[in-house]
Amino acid sequence: MIILTVEQTIQWMKEIHKRMEVNKEQLTTLDQAIGDGDHGINMERGFAEVVDKINNTDYDTVADVLKSAAMTLTAKVGGASGPLYGTAFLKMATALQDKEVNQQNFKVAIDEALEGIKMRGKAEFGEKTMYDVWYQAAAFLDSEKVEDWQELIEACQATIEDTRALIATKGRASYLKERAIGHVDPGSMSSFYMFEALVSVLEL
Ligand code: ADP
Ligand code: MG
Ligand code: MG
Repeated sequence: MIILTVEQTIQWMKEIHKRMEVNKEQLTTLDQAIGDGDHGINMERGFAEVVDKINNTDYDTVADVLKSAAMTLTAKVGGASGPLYGTAFLKMATALQDKEVNQQNFKVAIDEALEGIKMRGKAEFGEKTMYDVWYQAAAFLDSEKVEDWQELIEACQATIEDTRALIATKGRASYLKERAIGHVDPGSMSSFYMFEALVSVLEL
């Protein structure tokens, strides 16, 4: 069964942009606490560019949409998050090339995205980064709950909250050492919005 069409993938990118726009201030505030305060700006601008590109291009496959988003994020978003998300979407695109997007292939694509973030950021689970949320999402797709998308949202939400208690060992927040404790990681929050946006289109 196909779970994600080209049209839904385009809609996914638009739904991500909407969330980055609405939550721009929140993401910026989180990044002001433990980073340099640009995460909301980076994400909103990056996905505005993604949507702009998508609106001006015709796509035949889900992989092509994801690849286009990946290229745009890597090229247009300064900072750590652009290349990391660019890599994640590029790995998904590569995994889905010439394949229909069924449950199994989609799971593999998320696993590949996770590996991409790990490779690019040298991140492990529990380092207070976006990786934590992707790890949780990949684990969820491996479980039997897999079609209960609301549970995916809840699992990601719990992971964001878990980043609060952690010290960061990657990215700018690592400079703060234990002073990062008590703050949620901005990248885990933006990753959450990506999965929340995904669920919103899968449930259409
Ligand atoms: P910058 O820190 O360069 O200003 P952003 O503010 O846009 O970039 O993104 C910061 C987010 O990127 C962090 O909250 C964290 O989730 C993520 N991040 C930073 N470095 C890494 C890394 N090495 N591996 C995984 N994620 C990382
Ligand atoms: Mg920043
Ligand atoms: Mg920055």
